[in-house]
Amino acid sequence: MQHKGIEFYKAAAERSAHWHAKNIEEMKKCKFDTIAVHGVYSMQEALDFNQGSIIEPIYMSTSQCYRDSDEMEAALAYEIPTWCYSRIANPSMYYLEGVLALLEGYGADIETSCIATASGMAAIQTAVDPFLLPDEQNPLKPINFVAAAQVYGGTFQQFAIRKERERKITWRRVINSADITEWEKLIDENTRFLYGEMPSNPGQAFFDLKKVIDLAHKYGIPMIVDSTVATPALLRPLALGADIVVQSVSKTLCTSGFGIAGAVISRKDITTNVNNPDMKNNFAMYAKTLPNRDNGPNISPMNAALALNDIRTLRSRVDMQSRSTMTVARYLENHKNIEKVDYLGLESHPLHSLASKYLWLVDAEHDEQYGKPVNRYGHLMSFRVKGGAKAARDVFDAFTRIWRATDLGRIKSVATIPAISTHSQQGEEGRKLADIPANLIRLCVGAEHPDDIISDLDKALSVLDGNKVTFTAPEFSAGGASSASLRKK
Ligand SMILES: *Cc1c(COP(=O)(O)O)cnc(C)c1O
Repeated sequence: MQHKGIEFYKAAAERSAHWHAKNIEEMKKCKFDTIAVHGVYSMQEALDFNQGSIIEPIYMSTSQCYRDSDEMEAALAYEIPTWCYSRIANPSMYYLEGVLALLEGYGADIETSCIATASGMAAIQTAVDPFLLPDEQNPLKPINFVAAAQVYGGTFQQFAIRKERERKITWRRVINSADITEWEKLIDENTRFLYGEMPSNPGQAFFDLKKVIDLAHKYGIPMIVDSTVATPALLRPLALGADIVVQSVSKTLCTSGFGIAGAVISRKDITTNVNNPDMKNNFAMYAKTLPNRDNGPNISPMNAALALNDIRTLRSRVDMQSRSTMTVARYLENHKNIEKVDYLGLESHPLHSLASKYLWLVDAEHDEQYGKPVNRYGHLMSFRVKGGAKAARDVFDAFTRIWRATDLGRIKSVATIPAISTHSQQGEEGRKLADIPANLIRLCVGAEHPDDIISDLDKALSVLDGNKVTFTAPEFSAGGASSASLRKK
C-alpha cells in the first residue's frame, strides 16, 4: 500500500487553516450580536462536516478516528488540526471556545484564543498555575502574586489555601483595589502576575483597569482579569491591554443554569517574566495542549453546547437585566428597612464614576433604541438590611419569588447571604477584608418583570414591621405526588 505521508496531511491542514482564518476574519467584521449568534460555525462547515445541521451538533464522542497511521502521527504531534480525545479537545468545545475568543476580542484589532474548562475555578487554576513555577536558576526563591482581596469566595480559597498554605506561594493582597499605589507597592521581581476581579462578586469592588494593566506591563508581568460579572457585553479587558481573561461561564454567559463551565481567553503574545515561548505566544492554546492535557480539567461537550446556546442572546439579556437591576436598586435605596444598597449603577456608589468609565453596553451606538453609547452595570447588586444578621435572615426567608441559592447570573432572580454561604469558609477576618457583613444579601436580578421582584422584596421587607410572611414548601415534589395518587387506586 502506498503511504500518503505526514506531509500530505500537513499540506491539507495548511489549506484548511487558511480557510478557517479567513472565516474568522469575516466574522470579525460582524457586530457583537451576529458573532454571538453564529460564532465560528459557518454554513460551509455545516454542509461539509455536519449534514447541514444549522445548530452546532453536540459531539459526545470520547475520541476521533484517523484515516491512516500517517494522519494519526501528524495529529498526535499537533501538526494538523485535530481534536483527538475529548479530555484535550472536542468539536463542541471548539465552537464554544471560538465564540468566546471572538467576543472577548470584539472591537479590538487583536488575535485571541480560548480554552474552555469544567468550571470557573478550573479556569482560574488554568490561568494562574503556569506562572507559579519555581525560579529556574534558584528554585528555593520565594515567589508571589499580587491580587485584589475582594474576590469570589472560591477564588479566595484557591489563592489562600491551595497556593499560599499548601504551596507557599505568597498572595499579596490588595485591600483597596481602587488605589493604584497599593498595587505598585506590592510588586517586586518575584511577582508573577497581577490579578483582579471587576466588578468583584459580591462586593462590586472596581479598579482603574487601564492603570493596573499599565502597571503590570511596566514590571513585565501579565494582568489577569476575572470578568465574570461584567461579561464581554459590558467589558472586554483584552481590548484594553489585559493579557488573560477568566470567565465563570456558569454564570451570566450560561444563564439558563444548565451546567458549570469556565473559560480562559488570552491575547497573542502576553507579557510574562516566565521563560516559556509557547506559553507567551498563545497562552490559551498552550494551556489546552500541554498542562490541561495532563491535568484534565476541561469542559464536557454537553456543557459546552448548552453554554454556547445561551451566549447567543448575551447582549440583549445583559441590557434588560441591567435595567431591571437599576429599577430594583432604586426601589431598595428608598426603603426604610434598608441600611445601604450597593450597586455600581447608583450615583450614590463611591465607585460609580469609575465604573461608568468602563462599563458600556456593547454596540449601543448601533442599536436603534439607543443610537449612542450607554452605560450598563450588570445584574449583580447587594443590600444591607437594618437590624443585623437576624433581620437579614428573616427577610431572606420570606422571599417567595426570588430563589434562595448560592448562584448568580441566572435568568431567574436569585439571592444569597454570602456570610453564611459563599464566604463562610474564609472566616470573620477574610470577610472583613472583603467587606461582607452578616446583614448583606446579594441579589442577582433575573429576566422577570422587575415589578414582580419589587413586590417580592416589598413583602419580605415588611416582616421587619411585624408582618407575617412565611414560605411553605410541600414535603414532596409534584413528581412524587403523582405516583402516590396512582398507588391509591
Ligand atoms: C462563580 C464565580 C467563579 C467560579 O466559577 P465556577 O464556575 O462556579 O467554578 C469565579 N469567579 C467569579 C467572579 C464567580 O462569580
